[in-house]
Amino acid sequence: MNDVMNATLFERACRVIPGGVNSPVRAFGAVGGDPLFIRRGQGSRLFSADGCEFVDFCGSWGPLILGHAHPAVVEAVQRAAADGTSFGACTEREVELAELLCARIPYLERVRLVSSGTEACMTAIRLARGFTRRNKILKFDGCYHGHADALLVSAGSGLLTGGMASSAGIPPGVVTDTLVVPYNDLAAVGTVMADWGGEVAAIIVEPVAANMGLVLPEPGFLEGLRRVTAERGALLIFDEVISGFRFGPTSYGALCGVTPDLTCLGKIIGGGMPIGAVGGRADVMKQLAPEGTVYQAGTLSGNPVAVAAGLATLTMLARENPYPALERLGRLLQEGIARCLVPGVLSAHCVRRGGVFTLFFGDPPLRILADVKRCDTRAYASFFHGMLQRGIYLPSSQFEVCFLSAAHTEADVDRFLSAADESMAAMLVGQ
Ligand SMILES: *Cc1c(COP(=O)(O)O)cnc(C)c1O
Repeated sequence: MNDVMNATLFERACRVIPGGVNSPVRAFGAVGGDPLFIRRGQGSRLFSADGCEFVDFCGSWGPLILGHAHPAVVEAVQRAAADGTSFGACTEREVELAELLCARIPYLERVRLVSSGTEACMTAIRLARGFTRRNKILKFDGCYHGHADALLVSAGSGLLTGGMASSAGIPPGVVTDTLVVPYNDLAAVGTVMADWGGEVAAIIVEPVAANMGLVLPEPGFLEGLRRVTAERGALLIFDEVISGFRFGPTSYGALCGVTPDLTCLGKIIGGGMPIGAVGGRADVMKQLAPEGTVYQAGTLSGNPVAVAAGLATLTMLARENPYPALERLGRLLQEGIARCLVPGVLSAHCVRRGGVFTLFFGDPPLRILADVKRCDTRAYASFFHGMLQRGIYLPSSQFEVCFLSAAHTEADVDRFLSAADESMAAMLVGQ
């Protein structure tokens, strides 16, 4: 790979941007090496600054379910931008997007558009606290809800104690009200709710956990959360920033039949432009300013260009229904990976739902963060670089998910599989 241009760009970046990146997941910290500078994307392909071509399985970390530069999205963005990029005033298109979201997700009665998933989750938490007049929130270890202070919390040493801030710069007081339990652990939820139930404003959860690699909810887990929150007068918040419109043309909650009180959206609903949304029960949502007393605002909220990209994406998803194809390609990929693995030699396991998957270098069960953390991150790093050398772009961490898009073909899956076969063979030789 000719990477002269890349090295020069990264050097320049490091002089003016901390770590050379504008979001830490982009750094190759977990796998080593310089992050790749991208010049262009088209369909399932990425083209680097050095002119290399990759089949992309990262998908900008979630938004690009239609692939890169889908003509309908590009056209919508160009048209919207030509009419002005921001007004700080009401537009018809933002109403259209809100109407569409409420129509597609039957239990969404009101929705507020914001500019990122982080903002959506932060707003959902503030709203739940304002509505219930309680302070505590319960989250799950390994679920990511953006980088608001109260949500950057991981489990403390004692299982059922308050969490610890997972970043410097967060005062202890801010996290004392965040309780953390293991994902899929209804018993732990029950214990915490028995102790603190009267003070818990909300349980927030990724209904399909996709920020510790892909960890699926066990049968009954989400139903159990619905039951215990209803019993204790707490709200249930589904963070669907990744899962919304990823597994079907609606939310995961609507697909699995569990109705949360509030839903956070982002990524896909902006078609690659910055967006987020929080929506749900009308009686809760009307607590938001200006109707209610919970403050929330944003200069670029409901931005006309972002809204246009989101509308185009959701419209294409409804028209083309790529979900059966994503499931079919996902299954091909999962079955193919199983064939690449030499039993008992390289311990790896592919977890998948629809077009979302993680190849874990570890053995099942993978149901909580502690299981996932036992995976061999060095094996993942060599796999990652093996794949990159063979033209396959993966997320640069074991604890992220891979995405198929509507632009991926069977040939792309074949390329993934032959690259995986060769990369794993090379890893065995290297052992
Ligand atoms: C990406 C993500 C967020 C944060 O969204 P940003 O747009 O990056 O702020 C929140 N929750 C989940 C589940 C996510 O995957």
